[in-house]
Amino acid sequence: MFTKGYTKKRSKKDNSPRNPGWFQAGKPSGRSRSQTSIQIPESASASTSCVRQTFQSSDCKIETTGNICTLRSQADADLKREENKALHSGMRWIDSQLTLSLKSGELAGMYTLKCITCGFIGDRIKMYKEIATGKPGPNPGQPNVALASALQDCPIGNTTVQQLLAGMDTPTPCRSSMQRTSSRVAAEMVKLNKTDMAQKLELVKEDNRKRGVPENEINITVDARYNSNTIVSKKKPGQNATQAFALGIETMTDKKYIIAAVVQNKMCWKGAWLRGKGFPIECPGHEECTANLYRAAALSEYKLGKEIGNQLGLQKCLVRYVTTDGDGRSARGIEDALTALEPMWKVERLADDVHLGQSEFRASLRA
Ligand SMILES: [Zn+2]
Ligand SMILES: [Zn+2]
Repeated sequence: MFTKGYTKKRSKKDNSPRNPGWFQAGKPSGRSRSQTSIQIPESASASTSCVRQTFQSSDCKIETTGNICTLRSQADADLKREENKALHSGMRWIDSQLTLSLKSGELAGMYTLKCITCGFIGDRIKMYKEIATGKPGPNPGQPNVALASALQDCPIGNTTVQQLLAGMDTPTPCRSSMQRTSSRVAAEMVKLNKTDMAQKLELVKEDNRKRGVPENEINITVDARYNSNTIVSKKKPGQNATQAFALGIETMTDKKYIIAAVVQNKMCWKGAWLRGKGFPIECPGHEECTANLYRAAALSEYKLGKEIGNQLGLQKCLVRYVTTDGDGRSARGIEDALTALEPMWKVERLADDVHLGQSEFRASLRA
C-alpha cells in the first residue's frame, strides 16, 4: 500500500485555522513524503499474522523519537486510514499530545493527536463504531446501544448506570439521550419478542404434528401479575395497581415456551404532564401515549385473556385447556377471543395445583 515515492494529497485540514503556520514561506508546495514499508518475512508473518509499518516523514525535521513502528494484528491494521486521518506522517504517540473528547451523550470518546514540535493537529478519530439508523442526524454509538439493550434485561435503569459509571470516574452520557436510546432499543426489543413468540408457537405446532394430534389445538397456563402487592388500595377507591402483565405459557412441550404476553398500563407520563398544564388530553389516545387503559379503569384479567386469545388467534391456534388460579376470568377471555375464529369453540379452565391444594387445605380446616 505504501511504497516509496507515495505522495499524499494535501487535505483540507492542512489549510485550516487549527494549524497556523502550517505553510511556511519558502517551502515548496506539494511536499512529498516517503514512506517505506518493511514487510515482515513471509515465515514470520505466517506465524504471527502481524503487520509492521514504518513511516518516514521529511516534514517535521526535529528530534522526534523516531519513526512509527508498531506491531499489531493484521485484522486491526487499517494503514490507509491511519495514515490519512490520524497521523502526522510518522508522528508517534510520545511525540504528540493526546486529546480525548466526548461527544455529548456518548459513552466512548474521540481522540486527536497534536504534534508537540510543529503544532499540527490531526483529525478526530472515533474510538467506537456507529450504528446506522438511516435517519438524519448523528448515528448512535455502538457502546450506548449495547448498554441500553443490556439494561433491558436487568432491574437497574439509566440513572443507576450513571451512578455506576461516575463511581468508576467514567464520564457518563446525559440521561435524556440515554432515555432516547433506551426507548428506541425497547421498541426493537418488543418487535424481536413478538417474532420470537410466533416462532415458538410454530415449534409447538411442529410437536403436535409429530404426535399426530390436531396441530393448532394447544393447552396453556395463564397468570397475571400487578405492580402492587395488594390489589385493594388503602388510600383511595379503586385498585392499587397501575400495571398488569399476563403471560400465556404452552404446556404441550416440556420447554414451556412463552407464546403470548400482554400488558395493561394506566400510566402515561406525557398525558399526566399535559393534563397538569391544562390541556384537555385523555389517555389512551394521544400521540406517544404509553397507557393502553384509562387511568380510572379497572385492570381486568378477562381482557388480558382476551388479548392472549387474539394473539394466538393470529396464528390460527385454538386453546383447549387453560390452567389458571381462581382469581380471574382469563380463561373466559380467551374463549371469547377464540369464538371469533371458531364459533362453537369451548375453552375449559383447569385449576392449578398450588391454588387448588391451598383451597382444599382451607376447606378441610373448616370442616
Ligand atoms: Zn510535527
Ligand atoms: Zn397518555
